[in-house]
Amino acid sequence: MMRFYIMTLFPEMVMGGLSTSIIGRAAEKGLLSIDAVNIRDYAFNKHNSVDDYPYGGGAGMLMQAEPVYQAYEAVREKIRGTEDKKGREQKSPRVVYLSPQGRTFNQQMAEEFAKEQELVLLCGHYEGIDERVLEEIVTDYVSVGDYVLTGGELPAMVLVDAIARLVPGVLHNDVSAEFESFQGHLLEYPQYSRPEVWHEKRVPEVLLSGHHANVEKWRRRQSVLRTAKLRPDLLEKADLTEEEKSFIESVKTNKIS
Ligand code: SAM
Repeated sequence: MMRFYIMTLFPEMVMGGLSTSIIGRAAEKGLLSIDAVNIRDYAFNKHNSVDDYPYGGGAGMLMQAEPVYQAYEAVREKIRGTEDKKGREQKSPRVVYLSPQGRTFNQQMAEEFAKEQELVLLCGHYEGIDERVLEEIVTDYVSVGDYVLTGGELPAMVLVDAIARLVPGVLHNDVSAEFESFQGHLLEYPQYSRPEVWHEKRVPEVLLSGHHANVEKWRRRQSVLRTAKLRPDLLEKADLTEEEKSFIESVKTNKIS
């Protein structure tokens, strides 16, 4: 079972989003667990506050180091508890700080994180978190894109969703084995369902033919075409045949649309 621990000031936000649909059902089935740890529970002053002004001035408030550190220690205790039961060797968990300054998240990173037994996700808020605690506990800095959000909760939900669907059993086995966007650095081909004609648009004939090899050929060609049009940057790493490369050249020179 893969265990996610999300350190946040807004546990209801992440749990609300992650307890529905496929991920929620996977948690119910015991394929994974999602534990939102409220950093405010580790406030160390009588006002229950977890943020303060940044030294040196500047706009906004900063999450203080100590509540984050105490919340992390509590997570480590929980993990130790599960490890002791299994008699496994104790090691520090991977701690991902969601930050616009991190490495941009992608499918390859999701696959790498999915190999972990447990993953700790740290959500900042306000202007971020005191640097000193980040230095002590964070192993990975991950961004969801070059824009600034108000908090790390939505990015943490994005990571959990993308990683959790790779955990064996979360998707039906036949679905997870199928081709999806970014596999082999190509986007997925277009897909169609019933009816055969909708708004006078017909489903491509080959998909109705029942000829498996031709369907695969058509899908591969559509994947290459779509990637060339929408995400040409991906093609640099894609494993393409010489014929596909010259096909892409003809797309670029607008011979084929
Ligand atoms: N002052 C920070 C900076 O300029 O790098 C931005 C702080 S942001 C307003 C508040 C929190 O939202 C961050 O601590 C981080 O956890 C989260 N966050 C914002 N944008 C993000 C992004 N693109 N990817 C991941 N997390 C993000």
